[in-house]
Amino acid sequence: MSEQPTPSERYRKPLQEALGERCEECGQENGLEIHHKDGDSSNSDLDNLELLCGACHNREHYDTVSNNDATNDIDIESLRC
Ligand SMILES: [Zn+2]
Repeated sequence: MSEQPTPSERYRKPLQEALGERCEECGQENGLEIHHKDGDSSNSDLDNLELLCGACHNREHYDTVSNNDATNDIDIESLRC
């Protein structure tokens, strides 16, 4: 029985080593999540990754989708890429 680390867990360590353990937007050090700048969660190139706290991460995605109808049902879990 082996537990696979989630992609986020796998990216987190090299990302933190490269970027530091804080949100790139606000400097928060808790609740960090991995953000894919191009929205492609399979593109794990460090250049495409950003460490954001949960609040800034959500804002990134809401800002992206708010160009359209923001009242559409938005599954925030599916946006965590
Ligand atoms: Zn933040």
